[in-house]
Amino acid sequence: MKLDIVLWPDPVLLGGTDPVTEVDDELRAIVGEMRRVLFEQRGVGLAAPQVGIAKRLMLVCESGNPGDETVVLNPEIAEVSGSEVGEEGCLSFPGIYGHVPRALTIRVRYQDLDLREHEMTLTGFVARIFQHELDHLNGDVFIDKMEPDSRAKVEDQIAELKARYTESTA
Ligand code: ZN
Repeated sequence: MKLDIVLWPDPVLLGGTDPVTEVDDELRAIVGEMRRVLFEQRGVGLAAPQVGIAKRLMLVCESGNPGDETVVLNPEIAEVSGSEVGEEGCLSFPGIYGHVPRALTIRVRYQDLDLREHEMTLTGFVARIFQHELDHLNGDVFIDKMEPDSRAKVEDQIAELKARYTESTA
């Protein structure tokens, strides 16, 4: 299996995802490919739709260092508090960055690759990554949450990305 990064506005990024109910060899292979893609691209997070897989599966790696990543299945945010604006980019939007408001602190629940339940509180940058990746699982993308002045600055780049996708599928 070889998976590659999927660029916006591919429909797999916009359509939502199904829960993971079983961890089989195929799912482990998907996770392996996601790890490879994440670190090749020097990212800090990656959601399964970004490699074309419509499942509730994502990687979070605050340090960006291989081995530090957390495999997150079926995530939920139970509580949020505070808010903070910070800069974000996305591997599905190469070269596009902007300021996005996010909850500062979140209480999260998810399962690991053994389907064991985890519940914890995240704050700051790792909470931002978690929210960004979880949005991908719901078919939401960060350009729609950018502050208006940030969004205005990248409108041309967004139009270019859209045109490139249209050409590639024509
Ligand atoms: Zn993203």
